[in-house]
Amino acid sequence: MTGRQLAQILSLLAPFAVSPLAAAAQSPVTRVPSANDIAANQATLDRLWRLESPASSARRMPKLLVYYDLEGMSRVTTLAEATWESGSVANERGRAAATRDVLAVFAGLRSAGIDSVGIVDYHGGDDGRDVVMSALPKGTYRIPRNTVDTLPRGAYDGVLFVGMHTGPNGGGFLAHTMSVSVDVRLNGRSVNESECEAARWGRIGVPVLFVSGDDRLEMELRGSMPWIEFVTVKHARGFASVDTLPLADVERALSDAARRAVERRARARVPRVITPLHVAVRTFGPGALGERLAGLPGLTVVGTETRFTSADISTAVPAVESIAGLATQRFIQRAMSRAASDSAVRAAMDRALVQMNHDYAATMDAAVTTPSPTQR
Ligand SMILES: [Zn+2]
Repeated sequence: MTGRQLAQILSLLAPFAVSPLAAAAQSPVTRVPSANDIAANQATLDRLWRLESPASSARRMPKLLVYYDLEGMSRVTTLAEATWESGSVANERGRAAATRDVLAVFAGLRSAGIDSVGIVDYHGGDDGRDVVMSALPKGTYRIPRNTVDTLPRGAYDGVLFVGMHTGPNGGGFLAHTMSVSVDVRLNGRSVNESECEAARWGRIGVPVLFVSGDDRLEMELRGSMPWIEFVTVKHARGFASVDTLPLADVERALSDAARRAVERRARARVPRVITPLHVAVRTFGPGALGERLAGLPGLTVVGTETRFTSADISTAVPAVESIAGLATQRFIQRAMSRAASDSAVRAAMDRALVQMNHDYAATMDAAVTTPSPTQR
């Protein structure tokens, strides 16, 4: 592929790759859950995980991690602010907003005596660009998102999630799980990203201590993770619409809750998913995959839903992320078929899609539990 063709593809992809959420904003797929929906989902919690005590640690100074996402930051009120379009005015506003909330949390941790904290960029890029790193205190270090799957038991004493959002059924601002057009169920229960990450950390006995986000996320987590310190930073009015709260009050609440989260960490619980883990991923809307995944070994495709069984959460999540990535890819493909009339661009795009499918198949092979002949 020539440099010019590549540049053409990248320029066509840019508005989509940076913002798969844009499609959902145009055709909102979220709805506000009824009391019945919430009760029904709650009833499935026992099948999802059981709660345990945190892995005990002999550390005098707790070792903590702060995750951040953009959609649930107090000052993020538009889709454009939560995209990854580096350098755009809106994205700069989003970065500044994220930095403010993260700094408020850091202030609370400092008042609890914590001066060194790890940070995880959970907003797509996983490269730290969504906060102003130079504004964070000395002693802050960054770790890649997927490190959790390789850490030993008790590697940290707690994790704090700043700026999170609901899953696709939660009715929150910019609601989604991992990608637009995807609903993820673990052992039958629809999970949001906070629950999914809590399960990943739960595998190694590390509790989630704190979450911030909109009022809809608070509703989702109140049932599933009642021990967390939750800070409601804004009120969702729909997928693309939100009301802010008095910002000084919100910052104070973030600091206070972060300090309390550390002080009360012994009361936290650790969710351990029940294994083998039954995973179902439904795709819908602009990224709907239909029957595309049928025929891969270990996968059952029922309508718009793909199901598989995984030995544990650490292998399941990369596979779910692969399917979410395919949904995003499908969405981009649909957009591309409208946008690209240049046949060279189309051909290069097709080659890239073949490679992405190949990568996907490799991840699935590693994740799916296939019974050995002797077990049958
Ligand atoms: Zn997110």
